Amino acid sequence: MKIGFIGLGNMGAPMAANLSAAGHAVIGFDTAGVTVEGVVPAATIAEAVSTAEAIFTMLPNGAIVRAVHAEIVAAARPGALLVDCSTIDVESARAVHDLALDADLISLDAPVSGGTGGAAAGTLTFMVGGAEGAFEVAKPLFDIMGSKAVHCGAAGAGQAAKICNNMILGISMIAVCEGFHLADSLGLSRQAMFDVASTSSGACWSLNTYCPAPGVGPKTAADNGYRPGFATELMLKDLTLAADAARATGAHAALGEHARAIYAAFDAEGGRGRDFSALLEHLSKA
Ligand code: NAD
Repeated sequence: MKIGFIGLGNMGAPMAANLSAAGHAVIGFDTAGVTVEGVVPAATIAEAVSTAEAIFTMLPNGAIVRAVHAEIVAAARPGALLVDCSTIDVESARAVHDLALDADLISLDAPVSGGTGGAAAGTLTFMVGGAEGAFEVAKPLFDIMGSKAVHCGAAGAGQAAKICNNMILGISMIAVCEGFHLADSLGLSRQAMFDVASTSSGACWSLNTYCPAPGVGPKTAADNGYRPGFATELMLKDLTLAADAARATGAHAALGEHARAIYAAFDAEGGRGRDFSALLEHLSKA
């Protein structure tokens, strides 16, 4: 298949490389002029997409996705598959779906979880919104870049799933960090805290799989000096999307909003560039 790939950053570069390694002809474009092994560099978006049967975008935010997709629909062949894998707001996701449909393109929103490690290993999870038929066309390509693809519903449903999941993650990580912090304050050892909570009703992914306390539980970013992993600023971005969506829809998300405020403060006070689980260290210092 001829594939155009726009946005060859930390996530896009390994995803495009995996498509190329699987035998697809990938043409890539990035404003930073990034080169990726196996990916033919294009000078413009139009050059990357004009002959492509499938086009992927992996970009920083909704405004950029809207601008890039406006250029894509002007240059792409009718019938081409257009998949946005960026994490963006649901409204922008729906707007670019409409843009694509007007240009006779097949469109999906397909944000991912799994981070840069998952992108490199080809083990991402894709959360997909759009028509069932479009999902079937894209599935073999998702299977190259990931190990799971879930069709979540109509346009925007993939972004909705991503935002809701990451709001749960942000809240639960704060809860686990506060649990360890309170345990420290009470003189309870972190090992005892982990051994009890991870096999009791406090068990959750943030504790059992991504434990923020170094030296206890599985090896995580905490055991690697809190090098991300999943960076604080990305968690803040996702919690801001969730808080904005809750406000726009009138949904009750008091803890989600509080989590956003906690991560905004942490981001400003040294968390930027560090793993989001370093909040535990921050609580201990405060
Ligand atoms: P990144 O900043 O490393 O990459 C984005 C790339 O887009 C950059 O190389 C940039 O030069 C390029 N770009 C910006 N504007 C452009 C334009 N107009 N045309 C072409 N290229 C342009 O970011 P990333 O970590 O790869 O993340 C990409 C998306 O994936 C984000 O939406 C992020 O929230 C999401 N995401 C990231 C992770 C992660 O762990 N990094 C995990 C899941 C989802």
